[in-house]
Amino acid sequence: MKNTVDPEQSAEASTVESHDFAASVKSIPDFPIPGVVFRDLSPLWQDAEMSKLAIAQMAHDVVLSTGKPDVVVGIESRGFIYGMALALHWDIPFVPFRKPGKLPGLLLRESFQLEYGSAELECQVGAIDPGDRVLVHDDVIATGGTAEAAQKLIEQTGASLVGFSFVIELRDLKGRDRLSAPVFSLITY
Ligand code: AMP
Repeated sequence: MKNTVDPEQSAEASTVESHDFAASVKSIPDFPIPGVVFRDLSPLWQDAEMSKLAIAQMAHDVVLSTGKPDVVVGIESRGFIYGMALALHWDIPFVPFRKPGKLPGLLLRESFQLEYGSAELECQVGAIDPGDRVLVHDDVIATGGTAEAAQKLIEQTGASLVGFSFVIELRDLKGRDRLSAPVFSLITY
């Protein structure tokens, strides 16, 4: 399932215009807890044209820098939405990284710290091959703890992590500093 940059990808990489995606994000103060500004992507999801442009832009940024991946990983749950769309855009497999108790069969697991308490991500053994070039997608990167857990899960599979794609990056929280592969974000705050 190997991919390198080919002429079709180069064409994709050179044909995307810029758009005001941030206008389709609603910022909600003090949700879900006081002090947090929740970045709600619902308006973007509800706009089919803007969603298609967002997916094309994210795919463009990745292809330009790293080439087409072999697999897209989406992080539960909002990473599933455009994660699957990206996989379909490239016609490649989509693999969900899920919270405990959701996936059947033999699993790999990584624990990570949240602001209060800890959480875990799981992936099915065999869903990713050791030689795969994997792109991880999530809706938002804040502290980077979730994405770092995904990175460790991919290390367990022996696959190669080519990058992280986020719709939104909260720059002040420096989440990207925890990650060892290129970070592509559509919108930054
Ligand atoms: P973190 O592990 O701190 O990078 O947090 C990332 C995860 O938390 C993502 O899966 C997001 O869905 C969610 N998240 C964190 N902060 C926000 C925010 N301000 N608005 C929306 N989602 C957020």
